[in-house]
Amino acid sequence: MSAETGWSEAVDSREAVAAPDPTRFSHPDTVAVLAGRRSGGAELAPSLHPTTTFRIPSLESGRRMALDPTESHYYTRNGNPTVRAFEEAMAELEGAEASRAFASGMGAVSCVILGLCSSGDHIVAQRQLYSGTQFLLQAVCPRFGIDVTFVDGTEPGAFQAAVRPGKTMLVFAETPANPCLDLVDLEELGAIRGPLKAVDATFAPPSITRPLDYGVDLSLHSATKGLGGHNDATLGVVSGSAELMASLWAFAILQGANAAPFDAMNGLRGLRTLGVRLERQSATAQRLAEALSDHPGVETVRYPGLASHPQHQLAKRQMRMFGGLLAFDLARGHDAGERFVEAVKLAQIATSLGGPETLVTHSASTTHAGLSPEELAAAGIGPGTIRISVGLEHTDDVVADLLHAADKANA
Ligand SMILES: *Cc1c(COP(=O)(O)O)cnc(C)c1O
Repeated sequence: MSAETGWSEAVDSREAVAAPDPTRFSHPDTVAVLAGRRSGGAELAPSLHPTTTFRIPSLESGRRMALDPTESHYYTRNGNPTVRAFEEAMAELEGAEASRAFASGMGAVSCVILGLCSSGDHIVAQRQLYSGTQFLLQAVCPRFGIDVTFVDGTEPGAFQAAVRPGKTMLVFAETPANPCLDLVDLEELGAIRGPLKAVDATFAPPSITRPLDYGVDLSLHSATKGLGGHNDATLGVVSGSAELMASLWAFAILQGANAAPFDAMNGLRGLRTLGVRLERQSATAQRLAEALSDHPGVETVRYPGLASHPQHQLAKRQMRMFGGLLAFDLARGHDAGERFVEAVKLAQIATSLGGPETLVTHSASTTHAGLSPEELAAAGIGPGTIRISVGLEHTDDVVADLLHAADKANA
């Protein structure tokens, strides 16, 4: 048929049209738009490859493909073209040699911890952590004979001081940290010699901070949050050297927490707008933080962009923008926290962050509900602590809504 109609030639004669090369640009906002297109065709949007498996050319090449961490056309648990496009984009954005996507942020966190550490190894981690990571380190690691020391990540020299030479395999940090926006000095962390250094930078996507630039070995993200940015992809990602990522891959394919192609596609779609989303969210968060600081019913506002943040100078050094997350304490404690959350009209009560909708959480009764009062205090979470993930609604509307709720909480 094609021979007579010419259709086949029409299709076959499509010329490869090269996409602009993201490595020629250094600004992450530009890289976010251009990245992850190397292996694609002429289409601008990511293509979805739901296939679980691929025809292999021969048994010999199948054997080679099965063992290759960079192979994306063998079996989807090992690698997948849609997932690879997202991974490629993340590696370019992070300034990394390689990235691996996971089924969730916790898939990424657990692969790094359990993939790198064995019985008898020691981990240094900070006390201020995402609750899932904290439970993994606190409850799961000891079951496998992995010893964990928790330190105050804001205290200069604390990570280094807890390192046991020859024993410490991993130093694990999170910056800015859940839920109170404590920062870790990345320059100091990157300078630690001996153990591998991993940073969960979920609160500061690459348009804000690139941990690898500071000598950190692995950068982790829950891409479910700001990277994906639309609350429609459950996704995690780890980036680092090709060698380190290959050894993580060997564990990851057994762990089985590989990213779904559909989520990777949505994640890549989300990356395109990363810069503008973070700019708007940071601008609104800054105004909101300043307005709440002046409110009589609000005690402490924690936002890296406020001059009153104890680590504001550090924030200015290692953050390009200050992000959309802020936390504050209501003067009247738990009851005020409940009144605040009930009074919001625009903001929505939901866990998660980094999406288009402004979300409020009362940390003590949601994200950190599993912690004891002592653990809550150690993590800096009070009975009236509220965390806000600023969305993409108009700044005036967000500020008005939350000030109104603060009035109600203080009534
Ligand atoms: C949400 C979150 C995680 C876990 O990510 P999931 O995608 O929910 O598994 C890990 N670290 C931080 C800092 C987070 O906010």
